[in-house]
Amino acid sequence: MLIDSHCHLQFPHFQDDRQEVLERAWQAGLSTIVVVGTDVETSQRALALAEAAENVFATIGCHPHEAAHLDDDGRQTLSHLARSPKVVALGEIGLDFYRNLSPPREQRAVFQQMLDIAGELRLPVIIHSRAAEEETFAILSQWASQVRPQWPQHRPLGVMHCFGGELALALRYAQFGFLVSIPGSVTYPNSDRLTAVVAGLPLERMLIETDAPYLAPRPARGQRNEPAFLVHTAGKIAELRAQTVREVAERTAANAATLFGLPAAAAGQRRGEEGAS
Ligand SMILES: [Zn+2]
Repeated sequence: MLIDSHCHLQFPHFQDDRQEVLERAWQAGLSTIVVVGTDVETSQRALALAEAAENVFATIGCHPHEAAHLDDDGRQTLSHLARSPKVVALGEIGLDFYRNLSPPREQRAVFQQMLDIAGELRLPVIIHSRAAEEETFAILSQWASQVRPQWPQHRPLGVMHCFGGELALALRYAQFGFLVSIPGSVTYPNSDRLTAVVAGLPLERMLIETDAPYLAPRPARGQRNEPAFLVHTAGKIAELRAQTVREVAERTAANAATLFGLPAAAAGQRRGEEGAS
């Protein structure tokens, strides 16, 4: 039982074999896949995939790279799509000052607009943050204080996707109601900063993701990533934490189910069989 909390199965990388990729995911033990939008078109396509398969869910968002291309029409379309029952979060949204593919001013404006939609609809957020650590934290702290009064008490506010920061920052996010998601790069050599996060963050605050088609874990590194490869990432996390793969899989799946408000069946829970093997 595993949940891929972040992948882009709607991207053209999967156009020739999307059904086979999904089949391999279910066979590898995944119970749910969350397909993440990055602009209007990929959000629409994510939702179409989610509507065609019971255990696939979608998120709607505008990636910071795409911020400069979002106009009023696009914003309205995203806001409209976000109300669909198979949409479980706003994302991915955030700031990327490493590549600055959109000007920072526009990134900030779109990030705030997306946070406003999430707050209005009470949807959690999936955050992309690169070379913008302190500013992202400040913006999210402010948003969190606005939405928390209406937020269900035990539901996280969002997730830091593909986390690349220090353990101290991960713990700050964990403290104010965010989860931290671990990508396949934890299996690479020289990933000391990420392995420290995996070892030091409480499992209750952790998600796992592929970010497919990117960042394939070892031994598939260099290939197109796909949700079935999540087992390698879970295996590495279990090793680093000296826990079983099953503990890592079940806990991170339960975390994802709570964050995204997934139905029990999608989280792979077997009624009345808690603890059976
Ligand atoms: Zn992504």
